[in-house]
Amino acid sequence: MSNPKFSPILPAATPPAWLGVMGGGQLGRMFAQAAQAMGYQVAVLEPASDCPAGQLAQRVVEAAYSDVAGLDALAAQCLAVTTEFENVPADSLFRLAQSVFVAPNAHGVSVAQDRIAEKRFFVDCSAKSGVLPAPHKVIATVQDIDDIGDDLLPGILKTVRMGYDGKGQYRVRTRDDVRTAFEEMGQVACLLEKMLPLAYEVSVLTARGVDGQSVVYPIAENVHRDGILFSTTVPGPNVSGESAARAQQAAQVIVAELGYVGVLCIEFFVLTDGSLVVNEMAPRPHNSGHYTMDACVTSQFAQQVRAMARLPLGDVRQHSPAVMLNILGDVWFDGDSDTAREPAWDRILALPGANLHLYGKNDPRQGRKMGHLTFIAASLPEAQAQLHAACLILGITP
Ligand code: ATP
Ligand code: MG
Repeated sequence: MSNPKFSPILPAATPPAWLGVMGGGQLGRMFAQAAQAMGYQVAVLEPASDCPAGQLAQRVVEAAYSDVAGLDALAAQCLAVTTEFENVPADSLFRLAQSVFVAPNAHGVSVAQDRIAEKRFFVDCSAKSGVLPAPHKVIATVQDIDDIGDDLLPGILKTVRMGYDGKGQYRVRTRDDVRTAFEEMGQVACLLEKMLPLAYEVSVLTARGVDGQSVVYPIAENVHRDGILFSTTVPGPNVSGESAARAQQAAQVIVAELGYVGVLCIEFFVLTDGSLVVNEMAPRPHNSGHYTMDACVTSQFAQQVRAMARLPLGDVRQHSPAVMLNILGDVWFDGDSDTAREPAWDRILALPGANLHLYGKNDPRQGRKMGHLTFIAASLPEAQAQLHAACLILGITP
């Protein structure tokens, strides 16, 4: 521990220090905005030359996520480094951590980026957290398919690594379906999960500091469409006080058991019988936490800055009911037309309580996250009514 940047009694990194972020997507962009608002300077490491975070960062290290020279340049510049992308190689975070404070660390990220390690971790801490993941089985070889128990079907076959927004997932009813899906995915390691009867989905955003103190945001209720988050409502109209308390308590156990520093989001399913199942976690700010930017005292991005800079965590209090709507590239296209046109932002912004966030991406495509809208209002029904109106303007089914 001779390196002063690495000492456990490291002082806080205060502005105008440089903070680094692995990844240049929209999460990195909103992180940069929060950090810069506090007076920090931001360096982004990202292989793509034009990226949402790179448009704003004071420095872009254009390099692959595992490029040694790039990593060393980022470490040399910054007093702390975080990640906005959960598939950044854990080895890269190990390398950075030799010379700079990294939060979250390689361990937390490596568990979250591997569905097998993640499920094992959830099972291991279930006695304390009180929640289990869905029944599942590792499918690594064709032989594993023969051993699938009837109780796991119908199910969902998910790739162990690199899955997001429902990509790398196949719904399967029979062992033959599993064989076909496994072939389609090139026989990469997969996990078969039992298809559960979901009543609704929630996520819990937590943040933990280097001192082991943690905070938990209000629970968020999420609606997915085609495997992509469609909307987040807080407070969730279906969420009972009891399931909220159980999920929040489980989240605090999970973040502590992981020895995690930074913002972590955990997704849960609430089943039709009321039971709670833990699905997965994201080692970073999360799409379902975007509402915190407009509805909470401390946004999830400002919280990430505080955690990595070893500053006191901020107040998670929500001051207004909120609904968040993802804006996908689809809304740039009218019907079957191939020609993109800008949505009517003037009409959207005329709606009371509208907060528009666009990510600076200039090529809209189907299913691509281009931005989000958060409506805040004095009451949840008012916010929901504005979201409904926005959907009609954007041509989306509410
Ligand atoms: P993201 O990264 O966008 O959260 P993902 O691709 O990592 O998604 P999951 O969150 O595991 O994948 O699954 C996507 C969605 O599929 C879930 O939000 C849920 O709606 C549905 N789903 C996943 N697993 C199950 C299950 N075991 N039973 C029923 N539905 C499920
Ligand atoms: Mg998910």
